[in-house]
Amino acid sequence: MNIIAGPCSLESRQQVLSTAKFLNSVGVNIFRGGIWKYRSDPNAFQGAGDDAKLWLQEIKDKYNMTIVTEVFNSYQMRLLDDVTDIWQIGARNAYNTDLLKYTNLFHKPVLYKRGLNMSLKDFCIHSDYIENKKIMCLRGIFSIFPQDQRFIPDISDIQRLREMTDEEICYDVSHAACERKYVRRIAQCAKIMGADSLMIEVHPNPDKALSDASQQLRFKEFRNLLKKLEETK
Ligand code: PEP
Ligand code: MN
Repeated sequence: MNIIAGPCSLESRQQVLSTAKFLNSVGVNIFRGGIWKYRSDPNAFQGAGDDAKLWLQEIKDKYNMTIVTEVFNSYQMRLLDDVTDIWQIGARNAYNTDLLKYTNLFHKPVLYKRGLNMSLKDFCIHSDYIENKKIMCLRGIFSIFPQDQRFIPDISDIQRLREMTDEEICYDVSHAACERKYVRRIAQCAKIMGADSLMIEVHPNPDKALSDASQQLRFKEFRNLLKKLEETK
């Protein structure tokens, strides 16, 4: 099964290079990280911005990695066209049909994430706006407790979605888990439920991460997870 991994946000050249070097050493060659972050809170870290493109180019040249990164406007897509292999459309843009249509101007796959409280039917219907190859990505949904902004895993929807689409299904373990102590078991469940690929956030020093600090795995934890996944049938 494919593993798509990397830090939540690209924070510095050093952080990107060390993560890519680590991933390369454990045989993961699909690198994902955000240059611009779509944050609910305007005071939260918004991403390193345009300069981070150079860091992606560097790891692509050095390790021949497949690059996945989130975009949410046409400027970003034009800027990153030459370095990105797969566009990520994030959960907060799942209903942005103009953006979905705009991906059709490029010849590359789209990793399309389920909206925060989007039905599977809506998810599939909206995905029809994407004409290129798509990877349907489940990522956990809002819990029923509105005061609690954490997500709950939509693990059983892997099987339901499988019955509704022939497209590749990815499970974003990290955003579904919210806390790193849950990542391993949820990843194993997602494999058992038949996900084609898993997305997992990994960071050289998660406690210092500028976004999603609680859920990103340390390198050692990530290596252990890969071992456990190999044993999971
Ligand atoms: C992400 O992938 O880092 C992210 C912000 O995901 P989502 O759009 O699913 O919240
Ligand atoms: Mn994240």
